[in-house]
Amino acid sequence: MVIDSHVHISKYGKNAASLEEAFRLYLDEMKKNNIDAAIIIPDNVEGSDQIADLDKVIDLIGKRENLFLLGSPQIIQRRSGEAEKYKRLLEDKKIKGLKFFPGHDPYYPTDERCLPYYELCEKLDVPVLFHTGENSGDSECAKWNDPKYIIEVARRYPKLKVIITHYYWPKLEYCYEITKDVPNIYFEIAALADEEVIGKSGGIEKIREILKKTIADRPDKILFGTDWPMCKIEDHIELVKSLSLEKEIEEKIFSVNAEKIYKLI
Ligand SMILES: [Zn+2]
Repeated sequence: MVIDSHVHISKYGKNAASLEEAFRLYLDEMKKNNIDAAIIIPDNVEGSDQIADLDKVIDLIGKRENLFLLGSPQIIQRRSGEAEKYKRLLEDKKIKGLKFFPGHDPYYPTDERCLPYYELCEKLDVPVLFHTGENSGDSECAKWNDPKYIIEVARRYPKLKVIITHYYWPKLEYCYEITKDVPNIYFEIAALADEEVIGKSGGIEKIREILKKTIADRPDKILFGTDWPMCKIEDHIELVKSLSLEKEIEEKIFSVNAEKIYKLI
C-alpha cells in the first residue's frame, strides 16, 4: 500500500487546461503508480486558477474516501484570524493537519501569528507541516524556513507532531544534525527525488545516505510524499525502494506512518 502525503492540484507547465483536468490527471497518475491514498495540500493563495485552494479541493474530491486534505492558513493576510475556521475543519475531520509556507511567504515558523494554530494542532493531536528549503531558482527564501526555527516550535510544543518537508534542501546534512535530538520532528520526503534538488544537494547518494540515517534514527517518523505535479511520483517510489529497507520499514514509510501520524483511518 502506498500513501502519497504531498500532492497539489495545480496547472504545472502545460499539464492541464483547468484545475478539473489537473485533478483527473492526478487520478490517472494514482492508478498508474498504484497509489492507494493521498493527502492533497491546498495552496494558501485563494481563488487562483493555477492551483487549487481549500474550497476548490473540497469541491474536486467530492466523496472519495482515499483522498485527504490539509489546511493552509493565510498568515500574512489573516494573521491568526482563521484559528476558529481551522478548529472546526479539524474537529469535523474535513482536514487532517495544517501546512505552513514560510519561504513562499515572508514569515518565520516562530512568528507569533502562527502560535494559535500550533496550540490548536497540539491540542487536537494533528500534525503541522513546514515547507522548507529553497524554491526553484530562489535560494534566498530558505532563510525563512531554517530548521533552527522549526526545532524551536517543536520544543515549545513538545506534544505537537512537527513534519518537515523537502528536508531543507540543499542543506540536508545541516537539517539532519540540527533536528536529530528533537523527538517530535518528523520528515516527509517530497521533492527529494527531483533532479534539481538532487543536483544541488550533493547527488543521489548523499540523499540516500541522509534518508537511511534518518530512517535508522526514527523509523516511525518518515512519510512518503512526492510534490506532484512539480515532481514525478515514480522517481520518489524508486528512491524509497533504492534504500533497500527491510520490508516492514519500507511499509512504514510508504503507508503505515502516514496512516498513524495523520490519523487517516
Ligand atoms: Zn508542495
